[in-house]
Amino acid sequence: MIFYCGRCKIVLKRDENICHLCGKRKLKEPQQNDVVYLTTLNNGPLSGMFEDMLNNNNIPYMRKEPKGSIPMAVFAKAFSFDYFVPYGTLELAKEILALVPKQSKPIPAFPII
Ligand SMILES: [Zn+2]
Repeated sequence: MIFYCGRCKIVLKRDENICHLCGKRKLKEPQQNDVVYLTTLNNGPLSGMFEDMLNNNNIPYMRKEPKGSIPMAVFAKAFSFDYFVPYGTLELAKEILALVPKQSKPIPAFPII
């Protein structure tokens, strides 16, 4: 049984009907259009490549700055984005993600000035 937490935008592959992140109960099975967190990528050539690949496969995606990131007004560019896709495209999106080369540097929690 697979459950979906709409608050955290994650899919839970476990028997308990409770979200381990936020504690939400009475979760439902994911629907094709439910938005699911896929990955976080540094903002750069690789994220651009990934977006192109999603576009080429007609996968709609949503990207957001991770919570707690520096406001856009302070820095011209976000350092990383969280990517979300509809549940119905999650498996294909994961396959595409596997084709993106691994990023050499980890995402910094805070920019070093
Ligand atoms: Zn949750």
